[in-house]
Order: sequence, then C-alpha cells, then structure tokens
Amino acid sequence: MIKKLAALCLSIAMLTAIGCGEEKASTSQADAEKAEVKTFNWRLVTTWPKNFPGLGSAPENFANAVTEMSAGRLTVKVYGANELVPAMAVFDTVARGAAEMGHGAAYYWKGKTSASQFFTAVPFGLNAQEMNGWLHYGGGLKLWQEIYSDFNLIPFAGGSTGVQMAGWFNKEINTVEDLKGLKMRIPGLAGEVLQRVGGIPVTLPGGELFTALQTGSIDATEWVGPYNDLTFGLHKAAKYYYYPGWHEPGAMLEFIVNKDAWNSLPKDLQAIVTHATRAMNQDMLDEYTARNNAALKELIEVHGVKVQKLPDEVLLALKNASEEVIAEVIAKDEKAKKVYDSFKAFSDDVRPYTAISEKAFIEARDL
Ligand code: CA
Repeated sequence: MIKKLAALCLSIAMLTAIGCGEEKASTSQADAEKAEVKTFNWRLVTTWPKNFPGLGSAPENFANAVTEMSAGRLTVKVYGANELVPAMAVFDTVARGAAEMGHGAAYYWKGKTSASQFFTAVPFGLNAQEMNGWLHYGGGLKLWQEIYSDFNLIPFAGGSTGVQMAGWFNKEINTVEDLKGLKMRIPGLAGEVLQRVGGIPVTLPGGELFTALQTGSIDATEWVGPYNDLTFGLHKAAKYYYYPGWHEPGAMLEFIVNKDAWNSLPKDLQAIVTHATRAMNQDMLDEYTARNNAALKELIEVHGVKVQKLPDEVLLALKNASEEVIAEVIAKDEKAKKVYDSFKAFSDDVRPYTAISEKAFIEARDL
C-alpha cells in the first residue's frame, strides 16, 4: 500500500513538475510571441462623404471586418472625402504612401491611365454579375493589377452598385438634339460619349453635385440610383429622373493598397485584406439590391418625382457613339487596348447565356 502511494505521489510530482515546466515554458513563449506581435495601423482615404450609404459604408465595414479578423493586429481608420485629402487626390495619396489604402472608382483616374476606365463601367457593357465574373474568373483583376503596378498600387474590386439610373435632368430628353449643349456631370468613357453627341461632360465628386445642379452650373447629373440619389436630395434640384443607366450598367468600385504597405504585411494579414475586400465587394451589391426599392418608392410617392425611360432613339445614338469612343480610346493606348480586348472577349462569351438565363427569366417573370 505504502509502495503504491509512494509511486502515485511520485507520478503526481512528476506530472506536476512536467506540468509546471510546460506552463513556465509556454508562458515565456507567449511573452516572446507577444513581444514579437507587430500591429499595423492603416489609413484608408475615400472619394465619398464619410459614412455615405452604400459607397461609404463599404470601407467602414471593411475596416471593422479586418480589425475583427486580425484580432486588432491590423486596424484601419477610414477618412471621408476632404477629411485627410480631397476626393480626387485619393489615387496619388495612396500611390505615394501618405495613406496605405483608398476606396473610390477607377474611372476617376483616367487622366493617369485611360485603361482604368474599363474597370469601373463601360457604356452598354457588362452588368454587375458579369463584371464580377470577368474580374475574378476571366482575367480582369490580373490585368487591373498589372496596370496599377506602375503606380505602386494593388487594386481589388470594391463593390458594385448594380445598374445605375441615367440621371437627373432639368428638362425632358425626347431626342438626341436635347443633349446638345447639355452640361452634365458624367465621368469616364460615358462623358466622352455625351460629348460625341453634342453634350458637355463634367467630372465632379459626389459631394458637389447638389449645389452644382441647384445653382445651374450643370443642367444634369448622373450619380448612382434611388438609394444614393435620395440621400443627396437631387430630386430637389432637377425634375426629371431618367433610366436606364446605359453609362454604368454595373459600376464597379475599387479598393487600392499601397504596394510597400502591402509588402510589409505578414501573409495571414494579406489574406485577411484580400478576403475582406472580396466580401465587401459582394456586400455592397446586396445592400443596393435591398435599399434601392424603398428609396424609389419614396422619390415617386412622397416627392412626386417623374421617372422616365430614355427614348430608344436616344439610347441607340448613345450606343453608336460609345462604340466610336471606345475604338478611339483603345487605338491611342496599348494598355487600354489590352484591357478592352479581354473585356470584349469575355462580353462576347457571356452574353448568349445571359440572354437565355437572367434576361429570359426576368422577361418570363414579368409576363
Ligand atoms: Ca454613377
């Protein structure tokens, strides 16, 4: 009995000793790891007013997701337009590393590289679903990364608004003639298309649209769709609200990351950033799909907005002009041509099935 007890004590002592030893070892290991844990505090500048619904909530949601997934090893502070830098300075600010990240739209940077326009919206081009297909499974994102590499930037798809509205006009648009001399805020390729049919395109950040339209310094503006347009009160500045958004059939936004900041991150944090952008990209489309409807109802029922379809004659003229503009843009710039060739090949591939799936189904549903 005594022998047995002694053996038991010895085993306990040994276990305890080993246990304590292990505990000590793991404590000092944890201390060492703690000392080595590097935290990163990033700044994210945006082209949107702070917390703007949809567009501005994507970077906020991204920041929260990254903090949570990394247990605080990477924190991201979001700055709205003009808080750290003006909207149109986002690209340069991130390129030179004065902020580690940005959120905006690639077509704002067509002055840097005309190829950027194809990553946001191509008039009469791909819708949101197709655009996501091209970027993530059709080689689009790889080309985008190639183009932005020259600017020390890494781009990621940053959310889509879905098909937009054609915009707000201070007069009715019945023929192409009505677009002549029309001063309209419309960025990217679509601005050049408007110019081709006689209009005067202007690029302004969202925050300046209401005042510009109300004071008459512009005659028309496109922005996004009911959810965002209602927030800006654009219905108080112009009477006619036209559809469809021929110019932005699935406007794709972007996250941009400074390449040096990216390279400074360990692999697991890079993976967190990559997957968080991908999740936010889908999340934005979900939000617009859920919110546009109530806003449209309010615009019509509460504010008496007149919603009208652009006449086919006008759409056809814009479509023909779009083809001319794109042909000229890609003739002048090799990189733009490379990107558009990929976009166009994907579009030619995807359209026959879209016609007998999404399009045919929606037509059937509405019979
Ligand atoms: Ca727009």
